[in-house]
Amino acid sequence: MRRSLAQMEEQPATRAITSGRGASGRSLAPALWASSVWQSTDMGDARRRATGTRTGEFYSRYSNPTVQSFEEAVAALEGAETSLAFASGMGALTTTVLALCGKGDHIVAQRNLYSATLAFLQGPCARFGIDVTFVDGTEPGAFAAAIQPGRTMLVLAETPSNPRLGIVDLDEIGSLRGPITVCDSTFATPLGQQPLAHGVHLSLHSATKGIAGHNDATLGVISGERDLIDSIWAYSVLHGATPSPFDALNGLRGIRTLAVRTHHQNASAQFLAESLEAHPGVSAVWYPGLPSHPQHDLAKRQMSQFGTVFAVDLAGGAAAVEQLLSRVQLIRVATSLGGPETLVCHPRTTTHASLTDDEAVDQGVTPGLLRISVGLEDPADLLADFVTALDDTKR
Ligand code: PLP
Repeated sequence: MRRSLAQMEEQPATRAITSGRGASGRSLAPALWASSVWQSTDMGDARRRATGTRTGEFYSRYSNPTVQSFEEAVAALEGAETSLAFASGMGALTTTVLALCGKGDHIVAQRNLYSATLAFLQGPCARFGIDVTFVDGTEPGAFAAAIQPGRTMLVLAETPSNPRLGIVDLDEIGSLRGPITVCDSTFATPLGQQPLAHGVHLSLHSATKGIAGHNDATLGVISGERDLIDSIWAYSVLHGATPSPFDALNGLRGIRTLAVRTHHQNASAQFLAESLEAHPGVSAVWYPGLPSHPQHDLAKRQMSQFGTVFAVDLAGGAAAVEQLLSRVQLIRVATSLGGPETLVCHPRTTTHASLTDDEAVDQGVTPGLLRISVGLEDPADLLADFVTALDDTKR
């Protein structure tokens, strides 16, 4: 029987190829609209474009066709009515928070968050009079218990969380009533989990990571219902964390290969996590795909892929980390994730350097913790490089 295009597009890998083609005519590659401004035909046209919501062909901070194509593709993968792109993941996060919260409002956020998100909630939010309660996002019922009816405007979750891969129950977040719920889904990519399908209002990504996927774009994106995204857009044109069309082009290029990249990277991450778990120089491995992960069953329920990132605790602590980082040859010491090169980073001195010692202990960011973003190299080569560098540290 002949299948319709809509039936074929039920598969995310197919949607990643078919979506986001609106602004490119018959060109298979996206068109790069570098223009920052468009000419109007007359006063009425200029007024309509200036006062409309997300109206095209006016001014790039309001809307840009290349960015729009990227947004359409992300929305198709997230199962969202619409998406809105930003200049970075932090641009997406800060714009969303400031669009939805003001003085006297309250946010419930999990404690285990990307450190810049945490720093934003603790610093600027406090300065603007926005109150934040931090909870253990892995603890059932913790978010609900912290909600102050009528005052809590936002619930912010991140799953899997950076850097220790804690899992938040998306059904639980999606069932909360009152506040707008946001899930930073960066570590999963839109192919690994779909927060909106669980009832979460907004899914947020640093598209700098797996979505763009080549370490050549700095980009963020949120997805959800049109009314909510439109209201955030109205603030975003004032905030100005607008994505560059070139980065959006690279983001869309990344989406075309997202399925095949994440398939390979997830399999390699699983292989490396399992192999390193058995190594005497490693005291713990944190990866949602491992049966030893405390929330493996929850991860199995809500993730279709366990992700391209895992973390290890080295038995030799900071000294072992220092030696390993100077000895790896194939694996590169760098602090991003989701790209083609396998990267290792030491959260305590880089991404999470701003934590106090107490916060670091609280979040499990130990001196021996390493976060590994698995790339596209042969997994056996990666294991050999890691184990050789690890064994060298014992000499
Ligand atoms: N969210 C998570 C989970 C991240 O890991 C990061 C960056 O590492 C961000 C948000 C911020 O993204 P960006 O660097 O694109 O601003």
